[in-house]
Amino acid sequence: MTRPSLLHPFAKPAADAASYLPIVRGDGARVWDAAGNEYVDALASLWYCQVGHGRDSIVDAIAAQARTLAAFHTFERFTNEPADRLADLLCDPAVAPMPDPRVFLTSGGSEAVDSAIKLARVAHFVAGDTTRTLVISRSPSYHGVTLGAVTLTGLPLNRAGFGPLVGDVTQVPWDDLDAVDEVLAHSGDRVAAIVAEPVVGAGGVLPPPPGYLEGLRRRCDDTGAFLIADEVICGFGRLGDWFASRRYGVEPDLATFAKGVTSGYQPVGGVFVGPAVRGRLEADPAFVLRHGHTYSGHPTACAAAIANVGILRDEDLAARADGIGARLAAGLATAAGDDLVVDVRGAGAVWAAELRAGVDAVAVRDEMLTLGVIARPLGAGVVAFCPPLVIGDAEIDRCVDAFGGAVRAVAARN
Ligand code: PLP
Repeated sequence: MTRPSLLHPFAKPAADAASYLPIVRGDGARVWDAAGNEYVDALASLWYCQVGHGRDSIVDAIAAQARTLAAFHTFERFTNEPADRLADLLCDPAVAPMPDPRVFLTSGGSEAVDSAIKLARVAHFVAGDTTRTLVISRSPSYHGVTLGAVTLTGLPLNRAGFGPLVGDVTQVPWDDLDAVDEVLAHSGDRVAAIVAEPVVGAGGVLPPPPGYLEGLRRRCDDTGAFLIADEVICGFGRLGDWFASRRYGVEPDLATFAKGVTSGYQPVGGVFVGPAVRGRLEADPAFVLRHGHTYSGHPTACAAAIANVGILRDEDLAARADGIGARLAAGLATAAGDDLVVDVRGAGAVWAAELRAGVDAVAVRDEMLTLGVIARPLGAGVVAFCPPLVIGDAEIDRCVDAFGGAVRAVAARN
């Protein structure tokens, strides 16, 4: 038994070095391992590779920016052209999830979620509402792993063992507006924000019940809480529009993003800061926002995002999401035959199949690897699909066939 120097995220530290699968190359919706085996990347790596692998124009943009100015910070009075240009692109009314926002930049989704919580709380604070610190999140949900983001996350296993988390966060069932009302009834004047993924992603791929997101919006309007849409998976074309908030017609006050903003070519995340929040932050000319990361607005990372957003726009990749989803969903529903799949759910180009109790999703994922497809197990019983938006019909069919074959093989072993 040898253990690699690299301590892997969401993995068993005791695992042998030989159990890891080195991925060495990618092109479009496919990747290859070190032994030369080809796979369809059915989860766009980790829900992020919207434009597909191997895009030269993004690589060229990264190289050109790195040669000119690889990095310089944006604290205080400093800025750089890629960061400004990216923010301008994202704030375009045809793109942004709400009118007239500004954009705060981070290096990933968890930082974006923590930033959104802090921005919501401090916006109330500077407006004199100093006791508005309570945040409502949902269960199940996934918002990341930093102490703030994991506190919001509605997956108990992800929180266990890490000691005291962030205070003043309460969770409600993901689809239950009455539970939100109960919190608001006794603490409404203390609620800083309600946080929701428009479609729950890693928590199980759960599209919102009809009227649910509108219901959250109304409750925020009635009580003065901010609505935070966590668009880290849902953004950048995944749901058929730039943002899921646009698809569902619900304008959040803050919206977090990451993943699809660069399709993973560089680490970027951020927060759209809508008028209700930015107005308070801008009201006092002497107020200083004491929040930000070393790499907020990193110019090389932003250059990748600009090139990626350009591809999404020029190739209108969002328009492909519903077609991909429809083909995938129809295939997943019948691929495994009777009774082995108890639910197929999703929206746009993010879908999941729930397996009959006893058919283990990790075993299905492992079996799918032998059939040349990388999907992702969620918990013990759900397999998720979230492919690059460039995936072709034949590749979707390969995902479906591998899923069906793997589920049957695993069930037959039980
Ligand atoms: N929010 C959502 C909805 C996510 O799905 C994720 C990651 O999967 C995050 C936040 C955290 O992002 P990161 O892993 O980049 O910190």
